[in-house]
Amino acid sequence: MEKFDNSKLSLDSILVHGVTPFDSTTGAVSTPIYQSATFRHPGLGESTGYDYSRAVNPTRTELEKTLALVEQGRYCLAFSTGMGAISAIIKLFKPGDHLIVSEDLYGGTFRLFDEYYASYGFSFSWIDTSSFAKVEAALKPETKAVFIETPSNPMMKVTDIRRCADLIHRHGGSLIVDNTFLSPYFQTPLDLGADLVIHSGTKYLAGHNDTLAGFIVHSREDMAEQLRNIQKSEGASLSPFDAWLVLRGLKTLALRMNRHEENASRIAQWLRGHQRVEKVFYTGFEDHPQYALTCAQTRGHGGMISFYLKDSSLVAVLLKRVSLILFAESLGGVQSLITYPLIQTHGAIPESMRRAAGVNDRLMRLSVGIENADDIISDLENALG
Ligand SMILES: *Cc1c(COP(=O)(O)O)cnc(C)c1O
Repeated sequence: MEKFDNSKLSLDSILVHGVTPFDSTTGAVSTPIYQSATFRHPGLGESTGYDYSRAVNPTRTELEKTLALVEQGRYCLAFSTGMGAISAIIKLFKPGDHLIVSEDLYGGTFRLFDEYYASYGFSFSWIDTSSFAKVEAALKPETKAVFIETPSNPMMKVTDIRRCADLIHRHGGSLIVDNTFLSPYFQTPLDLGADLVIHSGTKYLAGHNDTLAGFIVHSREDMAEQLRNIQKSEGASLSPFDAWLVLRGLKTLALRMNRHEENASRIAQWLRGHQRVEKVFYTGFEDHPQYALTCAQTRGHGGMISFYLKDSSLVAVLLKRVSLILFAESLGGVQSLITYPLIQTHGAIPESMRRAAGVNDRLMRLSVGIENADDIISDLENALG
């Protein structure tokens, strides 16, 4: 069989073809779904490379290899959810270790660290990591990692990936980046010095609000075996069918991301001019506080927008009146979704921390879908009244 050389291809082509563009025995152009829990061994001490699907499965392997390639990493591990991936990563550390974490991040990550790992003896400093001075000041002798979301969720603050990587490397620790908001199409943190990248594949990677998935991508030889072992031992591996759905989603990632961004930039501008809107948070604005940084470390601004309404009494009205835009948690899918972070994605975060991060009772988060931008705008116009 002719070897498929994807090293010469650009990212959008790799996304379409993956690492194995067709099945070598049947010629099938869609990766087969190996819906098999176990695999027959040819004989004692012999293996096809597959034994049991919690550890390894051919459909999942194709997805892991493809995502490793697009995230510029050597290794990828696929989990049943984003939280499954984050839960696996934290097991690289030990009680007594300290982690510096973005204060403005996905509420579920906060809950996992604060409610569980803090009680197991891990310690966390919740910091505005968009301020390098604050990250530096939070370092302790026992700091083993900096864990960031950039742009942050939901305030769209941008953290300098390269500077954080250099800082924590000098300290002997690792930089972990949750890259869910931009996807590898717009941002590849491993290129900027990050050690480990996390994804909620539920969002842009799968892209259709129809499945859950999570990923860790990295190039750390010293962690490869341990991470593989954690995945196998914990058992939150991605199922063959869900792996196939994400592979299918990846094929259109480039098209979708371009459209998400095109729509978001129009809608952010439009929202900014609306009399009922006080402030819009979007990294594509030239007056965004970290605009130069975001342009330097990313290839685009993505499809996420947050905004403050002037009056909190409008929140319930807006959520009731939207019709094309769906009032639902999650992001990154083809449909536009609106959420109210205060009680949804960030409900698990204590009030004082929420207030410090800027998550108030007038904050809305919009995941701009790939519908026609005019339709999204008229839906917002109707809903805002
Ligand atoms: C949704 C999300 C997660 C959690 O992922 P699940 O797939 O829902 O478990 C983690 N980080 C970010 C930034 C998210 O948006």
